[in-house]
Amino acid sequence: MTTAASSPTAPRGHDGAAEPLDAVVARLRQDLVVLHRELIRSGLVVWTAGNVSARVGRDLFLIKPSGVGYDELAAESMVLCDLYGDVVDGTLTPSSDTAAHAYVYRHLPQVGGVVHTHSTYATAWAARGEAVPCVLTAMADEFGGEIPVGPFALIGGDDIGRGIVATLKGHRSPAVLMQNHGVFTIGSSARDAVKAAVMCEDVARTVHLSRQLGEPLPIPAADVDTLHSRYQNVYGQH
Ligand SMILES: [Zn+2]
Repeated sequence: MTTAASSPTAPRGHDGAAEPLDAVVARLRQDLVVLHRELIRSGLVVWTAGNVSARVGRDLFLIKPSGVGYDELAAESMVLCDLYGDVVDGTLTPSSDTAAHAYVYRHLPQVGGVVHTHSTYATAWAARGEAVPCVLTAMADEFGGEIPVGPFALIGGDDIGRGIVATLKGHRSPAVLMQNHGVFTIGSSARDAVKAAVMCEDVARTVHLSRQLGEPLPIPAADVDTLHSRYQNVYGQH
């Protein structure tokens, strides 16, 4: 395969040695099978409309093949692409959203995983072009503020990727609602990006329900900052 094996960001094994590229690819192929199942389990996707990708080394990523049902997805079906979306290894055509994923990896070097879904409640907000306001502590924790809206963009080419990157660069949120379309999330790993997609749908649903009861109460900006910092730096197992 390619030069990514010598990348300074190539993953390292437990002994600190760089993990061979083939081993990284094999592990991430398996991770992607599990993570696509997670999209179904969490009710984020119907039919084949959703995809997860994972960066490999610095210059490559693995992504779901186009139009293959989640039940038929196997580790070997995932397509290895370069950061311009050209296939490096794989017999299937990559997802029709590959250009958007590639643009994100090309422009956001810290991103290790990208997810795209049309999950129902989040996409309902996207259809109105309205950001989900930060009215839940869970939103402050995970998103550090509102979940922003990105521009309307047609599929194919770099327009979707450009809209995702331009929107997320100005926010702490790992999720963006692309207007009239759906959700894109990023993470340091594919698993983190899936988590952001699950949380995005969950809070979009809760805030929608709250809206039916009246006007949700905003959380003061200073408290959002405190919650976000605590969750990102202190919460969980260390
Ligand atoms: Zn889509």
